[in-house]
Amino acid sequence: MTTDTLTIDIRKTAESRLPQLDMNNLPFGKVFSDHMFSADYESGQWKNLQIVPYAPLTFSPSNMAIHYGQSIFEGMKAYKNFKNDILVFRAEQNWERLNKSAHRMCMPAIPEDIFMEGLRELLSLDRGWTPAKDGCALYIRPFMFATDEFIGMRPSETYKFMIFTCPVGKYYSEPVKLKIETHFSRAAQGGTGSAKCAGNYAASMYPAKMAQLEGYNQVIWTDGSEHKYVEEAGTMNLMFLINNVLITAATSDSILDGVTRKSVLTLAKEWNIKVEERKVTVTEIVEALKKGEVQEAFGVGTAATVAPVSNIGFEGTDYKLPEIKSDSLTNRILIALDDIKYDRVPDTRNWITRI
Ligand SMILES: *Cc1c(COP(=O)(O)O)cnc(C)c1O
Repeated sequence: MTTDTLTIDIRKTAESRLPQLDMNNLPFGKVFSDHMFSADYESGQWKNLQIVPYAPLTFSPSNMAIHYGQSIFEGMKAYKNFKNDILVFRAEQNWERLNKSAHRMCMPAIPEDIFMEGLRELLSLDRGWTPAKDGCALYIRPFMFATDEFIGMRPSETYKFMIFTCPVGKYYSEPVKLKIETHFSRAAQGGTGSAKCAGNYAASMYPAKMAQLEGYNQVIWTDGSEHKYVEEAGTMNLMFLINNVLITAATSDSILDGVTRKSVLTLAKEWNIKVEERKVTVTEIVEALKKGEVQEAFGVGTAATVAPVSNIGFEGTDYKLPEIKSDSLTNRILIALDDIKYDRVPDTRNWITRI
């Protein structure tokens, strides 16, 4: 495949695995489409742009990414409309964010045309892997990692950028129980919390596991220095509707600037809902929970879109939130975003890339 600026070598699979796929029974993140895109960074340039059958990679035991975690990723989704078009939601936002993460991790930027053309070619070649069913989607995983064979401590000089995809089923988001974490931290001021880098997720697993032993699904992360401010929930941004005001933590270097978060805030403002992006204290949330003023709370992120919160635990007390009603903001947001993603309403905000 050649465009004005770049050439992608395509080697197709001899036998598609698509006929073996049960579209009615899709586990999350375990089934991978036929092909993958990759590009290699060497001597200051991206080269070897190719799409090949999805297969294991080989690399040296001294690969730097394994030892020191110079590795970043993105997560986005594509949807199919009734005409068999594929619609990718806000892909350029993920491209921009990948490059922000790359910058923080001393990794090279990926040019927009390589990211977007690689994505386009991959999705059109594997067109059949984007589920056409309502609620289903194609999860897209772009990522970049160090490839130097070297165990000295410095940034790698070579990298690999890749994209693979997974068809995923309808996400039944049972309301989640969250615990306000006051000991462990996900991210520190000046740290890497705003980068989607591998190490952040490794470090978050133990606190989540501890919360799960106490009967919670995930933790609400608080700031790393004082645990006074609410930041995120698990791997989602977190929002509260209190006295009809939509409140969420302002982005900072300890908060991941979510595309879903951004999109929800845009919709809320269009709907004339009062929005506050600011520091949110644990105290004000606990006070509002005690007074029954928290009307709704929900996590926002690509996987679930909106995940309603049923309980919030703080220092041994569990607060129950009101049940989500059909006209709740949680549901309105979910419906509005699905309408855009599945092409049921005009894309007036320019959020869709069509393939
Ligand atoms: C990816 C991610 C989010 C959500 O971002 P989206 O772009 O909405 O998917 C929120 N928090 C963390 C820590 C994340 O890694």
